[in-house]
Amino acid sequence: MQQAPLIWTNVLLFSITTLVAVIGVPWYALTVGFGWFEISATILCLGYCGMSITAGYHRLWAHKTYDAHPLLQWLFAIGGAFALQNSALHWSADHRVHHKHVDNNDKDPYSAGRGFWYSHIGWMLRDYPGVEKPDYNNCRDLQKNRIVMWQHRNYLCLAIATNFGIPLLLGLISGNILGMLLLAGVLRLVLSHHFTFFINSLAHIWGSQPYTEQNSARDNGVLALLTYGEGYHNFHHIFESDYRNGIKWYQFDPTKWLIKTASWVGLTRNLRTVPEERIAQARAKMQLQRAMAKVKQRPNAEQLLRLLEQEYELLLARMQDYYQVKKQLLQQRRQQLVAQYQAVDFKQSYREFKQHLQQQQQHWQRLIGAFS
Ligand SMILES: [Zn+2]
Ligand SMILES: [Zn+2]
Repeated sequence: MQQAPLIWTNVLLFSITTLVAVIGVPWYALTVGFGWFEISATILCLGYCGMSITAGYHRLWAHKTYDAHPLLQWLFAIGGAFALQNSALHWSADHRVHHKHVDNNDKDPYSAGRGFWYSHIGWMLRDYPGVEKPDYNNCRDLQKNRIVMWQHRNYLCLAIATNFGIPLLLGLISGNILGMLLLAGVLRLVLSHHFTFFINSLAHIWGSQPYTEQNSARDNGVLALLTYGEGYHNFHHIFESDYRNGIKWYQFDPTKWLIKTASWVGLTRNLRTVPEERIAQARAKMQLQRAMAKVKQRPNAEQLLRLLEQEYELLLARMQDYYQVKKQLLQQRRQQLVAQYQAVDFKQSYREFKQHLQQQQQHWQRLIGAFS
């Protein structure tokens, strides 16, 4: 069978940057060496690129899990071009298809069903037949966003300006232009690329499936370390409207932390989360299915299955009671808090009005005194 034609721009881009990262960077490290400034600046650039993709492209634009201040959106738009992963509009169009048709080898643009290589990078190297060119019809909302559209129109200029301009500027500051171009330019780009690509490849192959087996997405704490929290991909595929990927406090999700912290200073708003009860139900349902599959092998399977089902129903009922009361308790606390604020406000007003009256009374007495 004839191979699909290569997309030479991408092949050359990935090959040249990889070669420089694998040969040029170690050669320079051994012969000249990198200083702390170069290393720290590269880590910062890597984080900026990565988070622009995870917090910006992915959770803000592709999934609309929160609203962001224009300032933050500009930062993500520039950081996304620096990460060199196409425009936010194009990226989101592909990603929305990935979620809608996950694992469908004909429709999912980076279907894990076609293997590690294909889902990691192969899908970008060849012009595969049948893969639809995105017409952005699934991103009409983003087409109304002037920052997204500005980035889309100027993507190439922005990508060149950031990928050469930022390392060059850092090189001028440190006095080591070649070192900075190699480290913050090339190595940062290669690492940033592969860290994101892992989400499409490894996060659909390696890890656990605590919430659903309907698709190949996995939760993987190790991948979360490299992907700014996106490693909790099983949770993400079932609850894609949630701004979090790692929902437990101990799960490494710096993208979630960034979005949450930004909300304290008004840079993000309307952070969407899935009700706790739905998450607990999904987990329990998965556990039930797994237990049932195991129990079926046992001699007294029928009896055990009945027991499992009974206990599961009871668990769901208890969950419903608990989350209902929890919701009411939270509502009550909120009302109490509002009442407390109102009481403080009221006391404040009382003090102000009292002061105004006293002033006016003094004024009045003086006036009366003048006429008596
Ligand atoms: Zn997603
Ligand atoms: Zn996925």
